[in-house]
Amino acid sequence: MPCEITDPLVEKVLSLPEEELLDISEIKTVGVQQKKGKNIFEAERCEHCGELTFVNKLRLTTEGKLVCIPCSGYGD
Ligand SMILES: [Zn+2]
Repeated sequence: MPCEITDPLVEKVLSLPEEELLDISEIKTVGVQQKKGKNIFEAERCEHCGELTFVNKLRLTTEGKLVCIPCSGYGD
């Protein structure tokens, strides 16, 4: 891998003042932490009506099926 080819993003980061650099590393840390946990914006299909529903809005029925709130019979 030729080392004379530098990433333009790296060069941009290196030229930034320290405060901005800290901001960037903070954003990166947050991004990594979110990837580790369960992504609440992940969507699964309701096993009853097939509606694509965010996982945090799905309910597990007594039969062990993941269904959307209207199909689960519960309110939000
Ligand atoms: Zn449904």
